[in-house]
Amino acid sequence: MAKAFEQPIYVTRPLLPDIEDVTERLKTVWDSRQLTNFGKQHDELSRQLKTYLEVGHISMFSNGTLALLLGLKALKLTGEVITTPFTFPATVQALDWNNLTPVFCDIDPVTFNIDADKIEALITEKTSAILAVHVFGNPCEVEKIQAIADKHGLKVIYDGAHAFGSKINGVPISSFGDMTMFSFHATKLFNTIEGGALAYSDPALDRQLDLLRNFGIASAEEVVLSGLNAKMNEVQAGVGLEVLKVIEEERHKRHAVKKAYEENLAEIQGIRVLTVLDGQSSSYQYFVIEIDEAVFGRSRNAVHKELQKYNVFARKYFYPLCSDFDWYSELPSARPEHLPHAQQAVQQVLAMPYYGDLPISSVAEICGIIRELYVTQKSLSQI
Ligand SMILES: *Cc1c(COP(=O)(O)O)cnc(C)c1O
Repeated sequence: MAKAFEQPIYVTRPLLPDIEDVTERLKTVWDSRQLTNFGKQHDELSRQLKTYLEVGHISMFSNGTLALLLGLKALKLTGEVITTPFTFPATVQALDWNNLTPVFCDIDPVTFNIDADKIEALITEKTSAILAVHVFGNPCEVEKIQAIADKHGLKVIYDGAHAFGSKINGVPISSFGDMTMFSFHATKLFNTIEGGALAYSDPALDRQLDLLRNFGIASAEEVVLSGLNAKMNEVQAGVGLEVLKVIEEERHKRHAVKKAYEENLAEIQGIRVLTVLDGQSSSYQYFVIEIDEAVFGRSRNAVHKELQKYNVFARKYFYPLCSDFDWYSELPSARPEHLPHAQQAVQQVLAMPYYGDLPISSVAEICGIIRELYVTQKSLSQI
């Protein structure tokens, strides 16, 4: 019989650089007396991220949600935007705050990303864009989505909050679409405590985003548009520079954790690993499984609850479905009968504890608990 862990095991732990290194860097910020408004740390992080992510242009923000919100604004979208219901609330809330109406499209039952084959049927004369999410870092069908967008004159925006550093056949993920948002929240692989960025190739967006994230202030005596305060400060950027130094090591460690999960779960029927991308392609952001109750014998909810008894806190990412939010109840596209795969995903998916310092032995124990749940159920059904 498996035993409970003495300390709780959470779904993730923030990647922390050496505190001495952070302190050193903060001293230079203190000495400069510039704490925010695009100082040295900001500019240096921006430069390094451009190289790391291999993007032409990058604009950094105080968090990923404001990055997305203002990115949508900069693209001057109107009317309806086709998007996925299976995402974090921020994706659709960024539409809400731009007075854009989400049109929910069902997801692919294998990747859990927006189903590109179902997008075209949802296009109306009001549609201005497609907002897709690289869910759990698995890339969307970018070529198909671009072809649809080109045919109908739509913009394409990717929520790449889970896709930091991931690639599609060796091509950096932010090369696709008009814009890609990254989140640097503490729970994301790369973090600046809170933070985010937009990556894009159109140089005209630089100026627009500079204005939008800084109150529309164009010069000391000129305010040219209604913006917001969404600047990344010097402490955030400084922490980010130190986190960036340890990111490759973290990716390697997570690779080992992922392998351990895959080996330990391989024999268990009714469990499918969603985050299968390897090496350069993987963002190593989450380790996610899908539990098929009909085969495994227990529901995702039951497994989630059982694991808690052992002090293991897996998470139902994403739950609830965005299309089920109260304020969308009048939207035809939000009706459950239009979104069968999304409705199934929200009942079956579980994000497992996943971070570089998670001991391989703990992974084996967690998988042991899951295996016991499966066996128990089997023996019960044989009585
Ligand atoms: C984390 C996340 C966001 C929000 O990013 P913040 O930096 O926390 O504002 C948006 N979309 C997805 C899919 C996310 O996981």
